[in-house]
Amino acid sequence: MLFTHFGISGPVILSGSSYIVKNIKNSEKINIAIDLKPSLSYDTLDARILREFKEFTNKDFRNSLSNLLPKSLIPVIIKLSCIDPYKKVNEVTKEERKRLIGLLKSFPFTVKGTRGFNEAIITQGGVCVKDINPATMESKHIKGLFFAGEVIDVDALTGGYNLQVAWSTGWLAGLNV
Ligand SMILES: Cc1cc2nc3c(=O)[nH]c(=O)nc-3n(C[C@H](O)[C@H](O)[C@H](O)COP(=O)(O)OP(=O)(O)OC[C@H]3O[C@@H](n4cnc5c(N)ncnc54)[C@H](O)[C@@H]3O)c2cc1C
Repeated sequence: MLFTHFGISGPVILSGSSYIVKNIKNSEKINIAIDLKPSLSYDTLDARILREFKEFTNKDFRNSLSNLLPKSLIPVIIKLSCIDPYKKVNEVTKEERKRLIGLLKSFPFTVKGTRGFNEAIITQGGVCVKDINPATMESKHIKGLFFAGEVIDVDALTGGYNLQVAWSTGWLAGLNV
């Protein structure tokens, strides 16, 4: 998962996007929650934060998260936590700390849309596989017309499978042409 200038990307987001395009088209609200501390359980994270708070006890809350988060994420998390950034760490209440943990374990995003066709990695739709002879890649309707790759209505998850589709169907079509 990558934070970018426009939102979020990376293989897991690209794969996820193929499942939600239909929901987006139907104007359904899609929420994503990112676990920023996947290797720490809720309780372990609580203990970790308490340790940090002890170290930074007389500092402002805004200056207490440098060991936990990348610099650019700190103001975002502080804003979403609704904890006063200028509050001394030793004044942060248990309830506020719990809210902070909840945020780190479930950082919320509302999906506004995908990046559109020009930036798409793979397209959905195309020539229906039922209209193609899978042994030769020739059209079942038009003799001498062969299909390969992206033009076929096949879309796989990112990670090499789409290239495999293109190469395998291209190889097969080439042999039979
Ligand atoms: C940024 C990006 C990253 C990707 N990363 C991955 C990945 O990590 N793993 C994965 O599996 N897949 C990935 N893909 C998808 C994968 O690249 C495609 O599924 C695959 O290349 C499709 O191959 P293709 O030969 O069917 O089509 P294309 O590679 O699109 O080839 C079609 C060719 O036809 C040419 N052409 C178009 N119109 C005409 C015309 N009228 N006359 C002559 N030539 C024409 C085009 O110029 C192009 O060269 C990625 C795609 C993008 C855009």
